[in-house]
Amino acid sequence: MNAFQGQGSAQPTETTGGDGGVVLYCANHPETETYLRCNKCGKPICLKCAVLTEVGYRCKECIREQQNVFYNAMTYDNWIAFGVAAGITMVAWPIVSLLLGMFPFFGFIIAALIGSGAGASLGQIIRKSVGKRRGRYIRHFTMAGIFTGFLLLVAITLIWFPATAVAVSLPGLLFAVLAMIAAWQFLRW
Ligand SMILES: [Zn+2]
Ligand SMILES: [Zn+2]
Repeated sequence: MNAFQGQGSAQPTETTGGDGGVVLYCANHPETETYLRCNKCGKPICLKCAVLTEVGYRCKECIREQQNVFYNAMTYDNWIAFGVAAGITMVAWPIVSLLLGMFPFFGFIIAALIGSGAGASLGQIIRKSVGKRRGRYIRHFTMAGIFTGFLLLVAITLIWFPATAVAVSLPGLLFAVLAMIAAWQFLRW
């Protein structure tokens, strides 16, 4: 019974495919049969190659093309973001960290209140300095810039002011974490 049903359901599927002549072969996998087409370029694509978008199935090539139109940043924009982030970090961190560290208790409250805003402002400055162009990696370079700014500050402090410790206060760290999260989210295009 089971075997008969199994055969019965398997055969029509095969014949329909053969008779209809509508079986397509994936453009990237010539051996894979498919019924799907990319709804932009019309190329036959198998399930592995298809990407479901808001407007239907598309091939990877069409999606990449779309992204390339969307991401219009130049390579040097990444480095602008990197430099601006490093520069702002080096100027702002010593001041912010010192000020927040002066008020052990209120420092935390102030850090929590202004951290995210400061991060968003940094994101805004960076977006402006790259001419509002959209880039895949701008926020990665921004984060790298912030870390590099920190490291340079540490290096400078150790070389020129070896007696003083790098001004790191706990409220300052909270501020830095909040600011970096906000900047990261702000720079998501
Ligand atoms: Zn396509
Ligand atoms: Zn395929």
